[in-house]
Amino acid sequence: MKKAVVKKIVFIDTSVFINCALEQVEKQDLLVLEKIKKQLNADKMILVMPENIRMEILTVLRNGFGDLKKKIEVKINNLISEEIKKKKSKRSKIILKSLNKSKREIKGGIEKQYISTKKVVEEIFNNKNIYSIDLTDRLINLGLKRALLLRAPYTPLKTVWKTTFEKDQDCVAFESVLDSLEKIGKKFKNFEMIFCVDDSDYFENDKKEKLHEEIVNDLKSKCSKIQAFTSPLDMLDSEFKEEYTKEQREDYETLADSIRAEAGGLWTGFSESTSRSSLSNRGNDQISSLSFSTSTSSSRLEITGDTKYCLKCGNNIESSIKAEHLGYLLGQFPFDCPFCHKQYMIKI
Ligand SMILES: [Zn+2]
Repeated sequence: MKKAVVKKIVFIDTSVFINCALEQVEKQDLLVLEKIKKQLNADKMILVMPENIRMEILTVLRNGFGDLKKKIEVKINNLISEEIKKKKSKRSKIILKSLNKSKREIKGGIEKQYISTKKVVEEIFNNKNIYSIDLTDRLINLGLKRALLLRAPYTPLKTVWKTTFEKDQDCVAFESVLDSLEKIGKKFKNFEMIFCVDDSDYFENDKKEKLHEEIVNDLKSKCSKIQAFTSPLDMLDSEFKEEYTKEQREDYETLADSIRAEAGGLWTGFSESTSRSSLSNRGNDQISSLSFSTSTSSSRLEITGDTKYCLKCGNNIESSIKAEHLGYLLGQFPFDCPFCHKQYMIKI
């Protein structure tokens, strides 16, 4: 007898989605979004996408990249104005030229990364197995009521959210998913619901092990099984047979932790520490394969971001290195001395 097919309906929260998109930017090898796309294409997964989550993801991405660009521009502009204050010399002309070049390249690089990240995200949004849920007055009402009743996953006031409007997004999203299950049930007799969320408000305690009772109670009559994962890697491995090594799981956690440590910072701009910490564990092989690298690391001498003098010509290249170092998010690690063109790799 043929076993009845159990459809896997997945909800991925904004923060998890953004972690995966950031990981994509850094060109790590986890390829979470690609693997999600693969499962969607193979009809193994249906991704429920409430409209408010879709909008939130796009807004966070746009703000994050925009803010990062601004932050880096301000820092390089500071280096430039300090250089201008110094005595005018042939040396400072060369340094200014290299600082302006770094600024142009890094800004252009961030724009490019934004466009390619948005493209991957939109490809997922447009997949045939996305179950979109339009934001309606009714769902906003249901979400608001849920938040007023302090039912999970409502956001307690202790957190960084400042307005009621922002506070209720989790409840609106959950009510949207809940509301869609009836229709999904008509389509697929047998389905299980998988939540991929790392927001502790979805769970019974801070350990994030057990989905909150209120959430389970609302769902249990509507589907055959309910599961929750905080890491998309664990979800892909356990539910979709995509294998990840322990090291890869740790890489993802490091990234997620550093974003979490910035609390609300993510929502107005990516943390600069994000990439710094997750890249710090990489070896040279990985660095040289990054998109903006123009040469292999083997021919380049490794220096740190606070190196002062060129090891070949002895010129002070401190501010040029500092400026170029800001491009770490884009993998712009190779650095050429603006005086003698000696090639270096800037260690992160
Ligand atoms: Zn030099």
